[in-house]
Amino acid sequence: MLVFKKIDELRNYLDSNGSKSVGFVPTMGALHKGHLSLVEMSKAQNDITVCSIFVNPIQFNNQDDLANYPVTIDDDLVLLKSLKCDMVFLPSVKEMYDGYEVQSFDFGDIEKVMEGAHREGHFNGVANVITRFFEIVKPTKAYFGEKDFQQLAIVKALNEQLCSSVEIVGAPIVREDNGLAMSSRNERLTLEQRDKASVIHQGLTCIKKYHNQLSVTKAKEMFVEQVNALSGFETEYIEFADGNSLQPVTDWEETNYLVAFCAVNVGPVRLIDNMTIFN
Ligand code: AMP
Repeated sequence: MLVFKKIDELRNYLDSNGSKSVGFVPTMGALHKGHLSLVEMSKAQNDITVCSIFVNPIQFNNQDDLANYPVTIDDDLVLLKSLKCDMVFLPSVKEMYDGYEVQSFDFGDIEKVMEGAHREGHFNGVANVITRFFEIVKPTKAYFGEKDFQQLAIVKALNEQLCSSVEIVGAPIVREDNGLAMSSRNERLTLEQRDKASVIHQGLTCIKKYHNQLSVTKAKEMFVEQVNALSGFETEYIEFADGNSLQPVTDWEETNYLVAFCAVNVGPVRLIDNMTIFN
C-alpha cells in the first residue's frame, strides 16, 4: 500500500499507471466498517483504489466539532492495508487548498433542507473538497455512503455541474449489531450512550412499520418522544422527504419514494441517520 501526502507524487504514480481504472473513496478518517465497505466495493470494481483521509475544515460549521473530530491515522492505515487498498492520500490543509479559490455552489432546493438547513455552509465545503479531490485524483468511479444520503445527492448534483465523467456510486448504510449507523463520531460516545443510541434506528424502524397508521406529524412526535426520553438525547430534526427531490412531505401520499431523515444530539455529539420508508 502506497501512502502519499503530496499531490505531485500521487499524480506521478497514477500517470505512470496509464489507463487503469481508478476507484476513489474520500473519508475523514477514524475508519470503521462503513468506510471499509466502500473500499471493498471500489477494490472489486477498479484496477486501483485510492482512499483519502482528510478532515476538511471548510465543511465544519461548528469549530468544536472540528476540534474534537477523532483522528486515528495509524489504526486507519492498518485497516486499509489489511484490505489491500492500493493507495492512501493524506494531504495537509495547505496541500489541498493553497492556490485553490473556494467556490460558491448553488444546488437549489436540495441544499435548503435538513443538513443544509441545520449546518450552514456545510455542503458548500463538501462540494469544494470533492471538486478539489476530483481534479487531483481524476477517478473513474467515486464511492459515497447512503449514511449521508443528502450528501450523496449533493455530490451527484455537483458532478453534473462540473460536467464530470466520474461515476458516482452509492453504498448502503453499515450498522452496528444494535442498529446504530456506524460513524466516526460514535467514537466520542460512552459505551452506555452507544448502547442507548440504538433508539435512533428503532425509532426509524418503528415508523417504517407503522407509518400507515399514523399521520406525518404524529410519526415525528412519536420519534421525538422515543428518542428524547433518554437523558442527554435530543432530536434536532426528524423529517420525511422525497428520496429524489429531498423535499419534505406533510402527507405520505405526496410521494412514492419516501425517506426518513434525522439528526440527534447526544450531548455534544451529533448523529445523523436515515431510512427508506417506502419506494
Ligand atoms: P466520513 O469519513 O464520515 O466523511 O465518511 C466517508 C464516507 O463514508 C462517506 O461517503 C460516508 O457516507 C461513508 N460512510 C460513513 N459512515 C457510513 C456507514 N455507516 N455506512 C456506509 N457508509 C458510510
